[in-house]
Amino acid sequence: MRNVSAVRYCSLSFALCLIMWTNTAVIAQVSTENDPNPFVLAQLVVEPGKMVQGEIIVNSVNGDTSTFIPVTVLHGSQEGPVLSLIAGVHGSEYSPILSMQKLPLLVDPSNLSGTVIIVHIANMPAFTGRTIYFGPNDLKNLNRSFPGNPSGTVTERIAFELTTHVIKPANYVIDIHSGDANESLRPSYSAYYAEAGSEEVVRESERIAMAFGLSTVVQFAGSYDSVNDAIYTSAQAVTLGIPAMDVESGELGVIGDRYVSPITKGVLNVMRELDMIEGKLELPESPLIIADRTRVYSEHSGIWYADPLVRTGDYVTQGTRLGVITDYFGNELETVTAPASGVLLILFGTPPVNTGDPIVVIGKVGEP
Ligand SMILES: [Zn+2]
Repeated sequence: MRNVSAVRYCSLSFALCLIMWTNTAVIAQVSTENDPNPFVLAQLVVEPGKMVQGEIIVNSVNGDTSTFIPVTVLHGSQEGPVLSLIAGVHGSEYSPILSMQKLPLLVDPSNLSGTVIIVHIANMPAFTGRTIYFGPNDLKNLNRSFPGNPSGTVTERIAFELTTHVIKPANYVIDIHSGDANESLRPSYSAYYAEAGSEEVVRESERIAMAFGLSTVVQFAGSYDSVNDAIYTSAQAVTLGIPAMDVESGELGVIGDRYVSPITKGVLNVMRELDMIEGKLELPESPLIIADRTRVYSEHSGIWYADPLVRTGDYVTQGTRLGVITDYFGNELETVTAPASGVLLILFGTPPVNTGDPIVVIGKVGEP
């Protein structure tokens, strides 16, 4: 990881930077302030002020399936942080993928400080196979497969390539999701680990999560003893010492602008916060902070009927009826009620339900 605070500081004032770096005897970096080196990602070489699009190759192992990860790299003509944006970890979450189609058109690398790595579709097998949660080849969840394994299954190899080429070179990572194709999810929110990583990593993660500018911010609980325990994309980043955040915007495979545009705006907001581009941040006055989340896991396999009176984004009180599970003949097996009061963040929106599925997520509202 680069020295994040030094990079940020120096983008503000070249003169101040010169003094600071002179004192720490890193003169060579100062001379490249307005003339950064080419950026190298796998086999892609990006000159300053240019954009390159290409693929990270995920090779076959022992005759197993191979795949690729489509990426765009925008390398600024000025020094600055490396920001990695990852869409499509879940291949049927479309609003992040569509937002990342638009972003290269909105960022001019000749007016950019730093480097943006855009992963358009992290999980190509899941995208082309139209699967939720899991890749179709090995039935593994990419967002539970970090740091990955170069000789593992295709999902584990994708995770390894992302860790190597997208997470480790970054100063900041944004992992962008929506409700999966079976999930209602509202409101759109950003999220960060409030306990994982060093104090500076937590502070910087919070900084970008707030700068993203959504009106709801979730604080993830928990921390990780090692990178092998940090199986989630952004958990891998923070455990490696790289500030990171998640985004959730969109639901049920819907591709409307109401879900795509908040992602695009949020990413540009973060780039402004990090002094990568010019412009004023657009922020809500006082975002709702969700400090804790409660889940309901299905106790049966069968057919799920969400209650027509409740909607994601509603505030529900403990005991509110959220839906019913029946067997495959229509006989009721289980009534699902809210185990706690809070904002109904996620609710299954399609009929299939399996024992152990997380059918409900409720966010408890914390201190502002
Ligand atoms: Zn997801």
